Amino acid sequence: MMTTQQKLSILADAAKYDASCASSGSRREGNGKGLGHSDGTGICHSYTPDGRCVSLLKILLTNYCTYDCVFCVNRVSSDIRRARFTPAEVVQLTLDFYRRNYIEGLFLSSGIVQSPDYTMEQMIEIGRMLREEHSFGGYIHLKAIPGASQTLLERAGTYADRLSANIELPTSDDLVQLAPDKKVEVIEGTMAQIHERKEESDEDRQRHRSAPRFAPAGQSTQMVIGATPASDRDVLTTARHLYTNYKLRRIYYSAFSPYPLGDARLPQAAPPLVREHRLYQADWLMRYYSFEAGELTSEQSPNLKLDQDPKLTWAEAHPEFFPVDVNAAPREALLRVPGIGYSNVDRILKIRRYHRLAMEDLNKLHVRTRVAARFVTAHDHLPVAEAAAVSALKSVLPAATQLDLFAAHSAVTGQL
Ligand code: SF4
Repeated sequence: MMTTQQKLSILADAAKYDASCASSGSRREGNGKGLGHSDGTGICHSYTPDGRCVSLLKILLTNYCTYDCVFCVNRVSSDIRRARFTPAEVVQLTLDFYRRNYIEGLFLSSGIVQSPDYTMEQMIEIGRMLREEHSFGGYIHLKAIPGASQTLLERAGTYADRLSANIELPTSDDLVQLAPDKKVEVIEGTMAQIHERKEESDEDRQRHRSAPRFAPAGQSTQMVIGATPASDRDVLTTARHLYTNYKLRRIYYSAFSPYPLGDARLPQAAPPLVREHRLYQADWLMRYYSFEAGELTSEQSPNLKLDQDPKLTWAEAHPEFFPVDVNAAPREALLRVPGIGYSNVDRILKIRRYHRLAMEDLNKLHVRTRVAARFVTAHDHLPVAEAAAVSALKSVLPAATQLDLFAAHSAVTGQL
């Protein structure tokens, strides 16, 4: 019979392939009597050398699974050592690790045993014991098992700060090929149920502060990248669809990791990790900078450039959009300037009510002016190409009618 420690070494290792474990976005304050709280800075994170987040006690309840997802080391046909925690063991480990200050909370996933409902019930029991029997106030992220009943999802959300149902692969064709037991409509059905229940709960809590909370840190999902030929365009289109329809807080992109004796349908090598990074950048642009999935890639170039920030790629492909005048342009236009971040756009909009901004002002705001200079006009600045056109115009004008720099710029713009 295995000890808890032996199970831990198997089930913590098996959980490392799930990247959806960041713990931001929840404020569960301790009540002074129980144990822990998940408020803001109380949550810490650590990362593996390849950049994956392994904060929290991140484990599987079990790596037994009745499904046969080809990309997953825990699939039923995989010849690996199996283990299974009891709910009481997971609770004890979480409390022990928390008390020793090793962790700030629990990230719990699981293979599917018996049925989605049975698996979900086991996970709910862990949440219930932690919250109700041990007054645990730390962060809990539970995997929502696609296909589990609405009632169980509702209960899971009363104990968990965050729920996540993994979409796993970018397209439904990919799922058919590599995860035959998983159906996109079932996964999205689970996301929809979580979304609806959360909306209800948030509305209730606006009316009554004492109304029960449901997954206060919302829901997230994970997509494995590079296990199939799906392009970044496919990935971003699916991401946009999920953000729009189910209001996900985050999508985690996880580069496929080959494992020993993997299925022949899988690639032999992992995709470059920088692909993950570019997808996170593009995802950020969609969520905070109003870019659409279809703008960041094209039918002809369906993948993001690995060697360039996607915002810069877009800007270079759209010279007609620039230069953007930092003293007059609307918010949406400023958001599209490479080198100007989201917070700085708000600062620029505030400051320019009082005076016209020069490049020095942008420097003081820590705008990356080395990048932005090509794309903006400021009180004392024109991008190089425009400045050259202005110089050329000035050289042919009689001295008496020399325009100042910005009048000349208007004339150039009018002529172009
Ligand atoms: S359901 Fe699929 S991805 Fe999840 S543990 Fe089982 S085989 Fe792995």
